[in-house]
Amino acid sequence: MEIKTGKSKSQALTVLRAKDSFRFACHSGLACFTRCCRGITIFLTPYDILRMKNALGITSTSFLKEYTVSFIGDSGLPVVFLKMGDDADESCPFVTSQGCTIYPHRPWSCRIYPLQPESTKITEKTDREYYSIMDIPFCLGLAENKTSTVADWKESQGIAIYREMEIFFKKIMMSPHLSGKKITNKKIQDMFYMACYDLDRFRRFVFESKFLKLFEVNLKTTEKIKCDEVELYKFAMRWLEYGLLGQHELKVKPGVMKRQKQELGIE
Ligand code: SF4
Ligand code: SF4
Repeated sequence: MEIKTGKSKSQALTVLRAKDSFRFACHSGLACFTRCCRGITIFLTPYDILRMKNALGITSTSFLKEYTVSFIGDSGLPVVFLKMGDDADESCPFVTSQGCTIYPHRPWSCRIYPLQPESTKITEKTDREYYSIMDIPFCLGLAENKTSTVADWKESQGIAIYREMEIFFKKIMMSPHLSGKKITNKKIQDMFYMACYDLDRFRRFVFESKFLKLFEVNLKTTEKIKCDEVELYKFAMRWLEYGLLGQHELKVKPGVMKRQKQELGIE
């Protein structure tokens, strides 16, 4: 079993597997407490947004407006980041001197720290996970004596559900169908943004447009996506697989008018 302190560059760059250990403990007694919640870039996944907006008791539309910024990435698809405050430290909107106010629902990247996934084409293909320790000079937690294995750390931080949800999103982002392409169609960009990040708007899209008249969606699925947001998210990813990747994840009802398809932005 390997133990890393994360304090030296050579160690920080060592790749860790599930059974390897590293030194780290974060607590309010450290002089650096909450310093890492300021002046940082936090990429948000669809599941991060689902959890955070529910923790705040607001809609995804309001959450996106108030707490995020988005950019068009290299692929032409929108990416979403947490909007830092306009104070001198650029503080996260959820940090206080006592810590994170949404701690049980904090985003994936706040949970996994100080681990950093090391992703290569081989690890993606084989679904194996490797990590390194992030080398953050001001983080005193990296010099604490407590050790954890990578596997135990992930378990203690509730990473499993985030990884499970990420698989649906990654299936789209890593699709060979999109490889080397740049999407410039604004309607497609908006469809992607809605399905991935604005789940409350996607729900209205499904239930308040002609969507259910156009697609064959059985009653069981309809009921599930009506009351279970995780199921709605998975359904949104199926919709993207259909609309973006051209995969037959959803079936159009026979005899559907071309105009209806156009209204739903799939033609
Ligand atoms: S120990 Fe590291 S993670 Fe914890 S508050 Fe300090 S800088 Fe942040
Ligand atoms: S979400 Fe919480 S843990 Fe993450 S940066 Fe903000 S305050 Fe810190």
